[in-house]
Amino acid sequence: MVAPDRLFSTVFSVCDIRQPWPVLNVYGDAPPGYYLRRDQAIMFSQPPVQAVVYGSGPVFMTSAVVIDGKAKAAEITASVKDSTAELLATSGIKPGLAVVIVGEDPASEVYVRNKKRTAESCGFHSLRHALPSESSQDAVLQLVDELNADPAIHGILVQLPLPDHLDEQFVTQSIAPEKDVDGFHFQNIGKLTAGQIDSAFVPCTPAGCILMIEDQLGQDLSGLNAVIIGRSNIVGKPMASLLLKANATVTITHSRTKDLPSVCRNADILVAAVGRPNMVKGDWIKPGAVVIDVGINRIEISENGNTKTELFGDVDFDEAIEVAKAITPVPGGVGPMTIAMLMANTLESARRAASA
Ligand code: NAP
Repeated sequence: MVAPDRLFSTVFSVCDIRQPWPVLNVYGDAPPGYYLRRDQAIMFSQPPVQAVVYGSGPVFMTSAVVIDGKAKAAEITASVKDSTAELLATSGIKPGLAVVIVGEDPASEVYVRNKKRTAESCGFHSLRHALPSESSQDAVLQLVDELNADPAIHGILVQLPLPDHLDEQFVTQSIAPEKDVDGFHFQNIGKLTAGQIDSAFVPCTPAGCILMIEDQLGQDLSGLNAVIIGRSNIVGKPMASLLLKANATVTITHSRTKDLPSVCRNADILVAAVGRPNMVKGDWIKPGAVVIDVGINRIEISENGNTKTELFGDVDFDEAIEVAKAITPVPGGVGPMTIAMLMANTLESARRAASA
């Protein structure tokens, strides 16, 4: 750790910090109102209260809320765990989640590991099926068929992307709609688009985003303009359906949109799901907007001869935080919520099976 380069002696009274000493000195755990860049850390001493900042550059005081997706996701999974125990006690049904991975994509391996670990911590029956990258389409479909027929499995997820020789759409559509906890089956997409959310499975990423938006702005978004950057089937389009259902006025933008910054400047709610690091600048953001950054961009950074990979969102966080009312960080924002919503969808599927 580098030497402390600043020392604050009145941080507690300025920021109304109530955490006990010592506060963890990692990025993302800065107290409310304090924003540290990713290469900075803060450490608090016992009274007389002092805070030491490690790292270079300015430390911002901001009134923006950094939305803590990790904490919100932990609340959701804790509640899923309680409900799982209750469901088991009342019906004898334990939610079962099967995750299928084909090939050895390292990012997919991490996602699948996290999903399995979270499913186990919720008390689910959790299965991971790994198929070799050269598996034929028939082999993948046969596995999906077996899982469709297995009464112990309530949720099936095929981790994307699949190797090039496999037809992603065909595989996704072969999952039984009532076990499609990713919400990618046309039946679930249709229900969501038609506003029949209660009987659909909503794709996990937008389902997590709308909960974070509601926490900031309430469930009724009447009169608010929402702009989504990105029109994918897994994020942009379902996000639009959810925002519309909550009465927002929704604009979906994409790579062919003219003058994107000025469209964004009209947004009370801005959702960025593009896949381009730091694309959305501070001057694209309407002062007081709620900004949800879905992007996950892995960038290799060289430091002292070593190369490390860092995650960046689609929004330039350092600039946006000075303008927005609330913003999700990357990492620690939308990502953890996506996994939590997968657990919530699997529990819901098991509940539906119990009452069938
Ligand atoms: P995608 O299918 O590649 O879609 C990207 C969208 O961005 C497309 O609609 C594209 O427009 C649009 N776009 C590309 N360049 C643009 C530009 N210069 N200006 C405006 N729009 C532009 O991506 P996705 O699956 O939706 O994912 C988007 C990002 O979210 C990725 O970084 C992904 O890793 C991340 N993600 C995160 C989570 C999570 O759990 N946090 C979950 C899913 C995805 P066109 O349609 O015109 O090509």
